[in-house]
Amino acid sequence: MKEQQIATQSIHAGYRPENGQPRNIPIVQSTTFRYETSEKMGALFDLEASGYFYTRLQNPTNDQVAAKICAMEGGSAAMLTSSGQAANFYAIFNIASCGDHIVASSAIYGGTYNLFAVTMKRMGISFTFVDPDCSEETLRAAFQPNTKALFGETVANPALSVLDIERFARVAHENGVPLIVDNTFPTPVNCRPIEFGVDIVTHSTTKYMDGHANAVGGAIVDSGNFDWTKYPDKYPGLCTPDESYHGVTYTERFGLGGAFITKAVVQLMRDLGSIPAPMNSYLLNVGLETLPLRMAQHCHNGQAVAEYLAQHPKVAWVKYPGLKGDAHYELAQKYMPQGTCGVVSFGVKGGREAASRFMAGLKLASIATHVADAKTCVLHPASSTHRQLSDAELAAAGVAPDLVRFSVGIEDVRDIIADLEQALAAI
Ligand SMILES: *Cc1c(COP(=O)(O)O)cnc(C)c1O
Repeated sequence: MKEQQIATQSIHAGYRPENGQPRNIPIVQSTTFRYETSEKMGALFDLEASGYFYTRLQNPTNDQVAAKICAMEGGSAAMLTSSGQAANFYAIFNIASCGDHIVASSAIYGGTYNLFAVTMKRMGISFTFVDPDCSEETLRAAFQPNTKALFGETVANPALSVLDIERFARVAHENGVPLIVDNTFPTPVNCRPIEFGVDIVTHSTTKYMDGHANAVGGAIVDSGNFDWTKYPDKYPGLCTPDESYHGVTYTERFGLGGAFITKAVVQLMRDLGSIPAPMNSYLLNVGLETLPLRMAQHCHNGQAVAEYLAQHPKVAWVKYPGLKGDAHYELAQKYMPQGTCGVVSFGVKGGREAASRFMAGLKLASIATHVADAKTCVLHPASSTHRQLSDAELAAAGVAPDLVRFSVGIEDVRDIIADLEQALAAI
């Protein structure tokens, strides 16, 4: 059968009940699974048979939801993690270790930046950050002989820049490394990065995929397209025998489609254990069922809010890739013609102080350290997450003192705009 459309996959992919079985993905709330003989269980430990034995490695609920996300992204294999942070960490740590190097876009989520620049640096992995809008020469110059991957975000949080995915993929592949992108903001509903040459896609499912601020989670999807076996010296973990599994070579046993995810599950999940609770995966699945509907509404509302703000006399500037004239409008049209996301950044005239007063005046939108769920929420980084920074330090971090990050929910947009209107009138 032809590959189904995403609105069908978001409901049906990954789980098909047989006669008399539960219609919903069952929550398999069990740490362990029973076997009849030690030999049968032993075959699992040797990776000779597939099956469940301990939820830290695999759990049916988690796997079925991962399979749905895999289908939606058009990948070859996928896994869930307990958070988006764990997903990005695993995606890189699966192919890089002490002494290796990664090239990353500088326009990425703050938590990912800390993970790379502080924590993974302490593990001996070095990072070069490049402006995602830099010239191809600058991007090429960032690569080193020990570079193992190129990393970026399709739509950056909170910069809202759009990655030129094909250009990044081309330069990654010229240098013999995979392109890994975090596709949290557009979701596969608005952008399927694998179709543009991306090798590995990651997600914080905490955001739009879950969509209701229910459960923190993450996902990794492999395209199966990157040929590790062309570079066995660069990726020995995938191309040479793993002694912790009686000499299994992942690319030989599981093929290009399965090697990356299998290794991440049986080594990293086994040893580091960032697994999602089956209950959380169940909640994520409920969110996925309505993702295409919700993304359309987030984009519709986000566009209307951005256009409203852009013409408001008290608004200094607006950043939204769906606005004509935005620096990333063309890239957004190319990669995400149906829309990008519902997050809009803007500045109010009067700087940090006016921004703070404006936010206090909002009635519908709640102040929350979150983005991308059904309820409109708002954050003023300069007086919250980045409070300890001076204006000069804020500028260096790419956060203007007046920047307001407005995550447009799926309420009626007339009510959202009315809320903005009264709060702006009061400053
Ligand atoms: C939130 C976020 C993360 C981190 O995800 P958690 O689920 O909070 O761990 C990573 N990348 C992006 C783009 C995010 O927005």
